[in-house]
Amino acid sequence: MSNKINELAHEPQASSLALFGMFPEELKELMAEHGQKGYRAMQIAEAIYRQRITSLDELTTLPTTLRDELRAAGYGVGMPEIVQAARSVDGTERYLVRLGDGETVETVWMPDGDGGERGDGSEASAEEEEAEGLEGNLSEFSRETSGHRHDRRGPMRGPDLRNVGALEANGYRRATICISSQVGCAVNCQFCLTAKLGIKRNLTGGEIAGQVAAVLNRHGVKIGKDRINLVFMGMGEPFLNYDQFIRSVQLLVKQIGIPESRMTVSTSGIEPAIRKYAQEPLRPKLALSLNASNDVVREQVMPITRKWNIAQLLDAVKTVPLGKREWVTFEYVLLGEVNDQPEHAREVLELLAGMRAKINLIVWNPGPGIAYTQPKPEDVAVFQKMLIEAGMPAYIRRPRGRDIYAACGQLKRTVEEKPLVEIQAAS
Ligand code: SF4
Repeated sequence: MSNKINELAHEPQASSLALFGMFPEELKELMAEHGQKGYRAMQIAEAIYRQRITSLDELTTLPTTLRDELRAAGYGVGMPEIVQAARSVDGTERYLVRLGDGETVETVWMPDGDGGERGDGSEASAEEEEAEGLEGNLSEFSRETSGHRHDRRGPMRGPDLRNVGALEANGYRRATICISSQVGCAVNCQFCLTAKLGIKRNLTGGEIAGQVAAVLNRHGVKIGKDRINLVFMGMGEPFLNYDQFIRSVQLLVKQIGIPESRMTVSTSGIEPAIRKYAQEPLRPKLALSLNASNDVVREQVMPITRKWNIAQLLDAVKTVPLGKREWVTFEYVLLGEVNDQPEHAREVLELLAGMRAKINLIVWNPGPGIAYTQPKPEDVAVFQKMLIEAGMPAYIRRPRGRDIYAACGQLKRTVEEKPLVEIQAAS
């Protein structure tokens, strides 16, 4: 892996037309316009999505003349580019990712994830539980004396790392990538730093999926060998950029090769979009950001509740079909003395009674200029205990990357106010 982030820079963003983001049938049309046969489109798709090339020069399966023609017509690969990065003490990395027009979003890499999938019945959830079991078996001593990147490492399989993925070679079992769907966000959740940006524009499906490809490249991830989970929980509200979000899912599943069962989309609660989502044939798991136990509190924390209240949102969520082992996830950011008291836990239980629901509790991450306080550890413990004792699965999400503002609700382009640290070699 490179030491200097600026060495990662690839094809200049002068090309205004991106091949990355086009479906194979669209590439076929493009090739037809250039008098080429359909197999050329498959060669392009293979190179940009499977080999994840970043420059037309690497598209060596095409004749030079055709590459030159594409360049002259304004085309480039157009994969978003990681231009800056910060690394947390816990291994989390936060990237500033530049899009073709110079706008930027943030994307986060969390080796070993944050536990968000626990209890939702997915493959990723089973792996989480297996890993927790292993960790539970480590003695306190070995946990204290081992470094972060080793304390989750399973038994070594021997020195030959040629046949293992990049993650396992580095001591991780899996990684989660948190991606952005908009530049900024219009939803204005009161606990969220991104909200302070307002909304600038929607991302295209290619820009959403391209963040994943750029991060996979950075870590040398081998699809099929490494276990990668995706969460659409970065900057923006995916359901306010619905069509491009769905397009990105199609690209990620069918072209890049990450199954939708390894993806979770979180929405602040766009009721008509949730109902539409229920009809989608290709659908990541759904998580609703609940964050309050009644409409009065939710309106303060998430003003969008004035448009669609909790009852309307729950009705919509119930229309989303669940797989056999699937549970709906509700995200609940605990804010000190705002929504973290026993009466709130009781109300949550009433709201979700009868649903196959699990709750991810997120201890609020402080951010500059936000007036909330962190909940007291004892209040968090009581809240979780009340839910569990009433039969509601409730997990506390592991906070990741707090020191670099990469945790939930903290994504904002802090580059203007605090330059991101240049990353040093990870190993
Ligand atoms: S929490 Fe999500 S939906 Fe709410 S303002 Fe932040 S980015 Fe937007």
